[in-house]
Amino acid sequence: MIEVVKREKLTEADKAHAEKLIDELRNENPELAVMIEAQIKQDFTSVYTAELVCMPNEAWTKGHKRHSKYPDLGDHTVVDSLIQLFVEISRMDDSHTLGLDPVSVLKVPGNTMSKHVFQVVSSSKEGLENIINSEKTRMFKGYHLTFFQPLNSKYGFRFQLNIQGLPLPFSKWTLSQWIECVQSQGLDMSAVTHIMIGKKITLGKAARLTGLLDIYVKPAAMAETGCTGALSDAGTALERITKKITFPPTNILLGRNPESMSQDLIDSGLLKGQYYSPAYNPAANALPGIPEYERGKTYSRPIIPIAMCKYCLGEPHGSRELCMYRDICRMCLVHLPSLQNKGFKHSCHNLIVEDMSKPPLLDIERKRAYDAGTPENETQAAYIPSEGFKKQKTALEAAQAAIKARKAAELEHQILIERQHREAQAEALAQQEQLLMRSNPTEGSDPEDHNTTPQESPPTSPHREAYMDLETQKLLEYEDDI
Ligand SMILES: [Zn+2]
Ligand SMILES: [Zn+2]
Repeated sequence: MIEVVKREKLTEADKAHAEKLIDELRNENPELAVMIEAQIKQDFTSVYTAELVCMPNEAWTKGHKRHSKYPDLGDHTVVDSLIQLFVEISRMDDSHTLGLDPVSVLKVPGNTMSKHVFQVVSSSKEGLENIINSEKTRMFKGYHLTFFQPLNSKYGFRFQLNIQGLPLPFSKWTLSQWIECVQSQGLDMSAVTHIMIGKKITLGKAARLTGLLDIYVKPAAMAETGCTGALSDAGTALERITKKITFPPTNILLGRNPESMSQDLIDSGLLKGQYYSPAYNPAANALPGIPEYERGKTYSRPIIPIAMCKYCLGEPHGSRELCMYRDICRMCLVHLPSLQNKGFKHSCHNLIVEDMSKPPLLDIERKRAYDAGTPENETQAAYIPSEGFKKQKTALEAAQAAIKARKAAELEHQILIERQHREAQAEALAQQEQLLMRSNPTEGSDPEDHNTTPQESPPTSPHREAYMDLETQKLLEYEDDI
């Protein structure tokens, strides 16, 4: 008897945190809040899973004269007919879904066909049990089928990238184009064991692609995940998170990159799927095939960890435990809630590093301490990063450093101007006061009238626009379309 396993996608603590984020966003960006809410609701829906191993018939050897005619589960139309069989046997109604998520494909010595392992995922517990218990699911086109209870550790390093709803040319991209794209945006393929576009069926409808790219990452490439060892100077006043979890990247960016530094990286073959265009002409340089009305738009898609903590990529936390990384970007350690749109568009590995939404004047010192570069310890990882990945990282780090320096200079400039502005205001006020004292000594004798003036004037915001440079302006106006 194989037990069907329920997979909770989010813990209660995650849920509470997500709700808080949505509430905050509702005032600032209601449209975005609605969109994220719908997305998160999906994450709360539990699904039931079982592992399926499809072993090819022993007779399928090369010596067999008709071996090429045998159906191969490596062919998606064959997978579709297997799903169709399962749907019939499940007797689920059409409110339920059933999918076969690929897990691995292994060569069988002496056989022309490979062993295929899938995860059967369904929203219906009974439906899945019907499939597992049926006599009709022991064989399929010469494959022996066996169901197992999935072990969580086996799926611990699985990621999904949602590629649904993207415009041309991305919507027509093949798997190899996707691989090129994710690789050029920091997902080192020498750390990936398997990558495939998932398939799913809804009852009464033809089998379709799930619109999810399934990515399986080598455990060795993820040695530094989890909250353990995250803090430096733990228990002291200097306590802070210094451990960066940079692999795999948090998201994939397509379309317009508003950061001018991205041009060099794009020229050298990185950041595939992106083009740089300046704020005054966002549609310029658009990739060939992008429809006119989609030019100038940016699409950001998270790389979603499955059965891991989505913030730190470690073991899922208990339902009352909050992850240390829940409010920060695990790649660069920036505090996301202080960024525009709570950092929803943040993509530091694609050079999208937004400005703080509130002037962080008081926090400057702390922020600098936070940003102190921590060299990554690659010796801990048994996987050997590919040469391309290393080169990519160097180029990216140089560009990130340049942006950081520019932003620090901007910030200093801003503070200087604000100080000058305040001083000028104080001086003007003093002069005004003197004038008033002279021209109208009785009215001027009440000091409160004048002291309120500087406090009432808005501190900085309207003035900030005036000296914000083009780059900063560009980032602020950056439009994200998901
Ligand atoms: Zn965590
Ligand atoms: Zn970041």
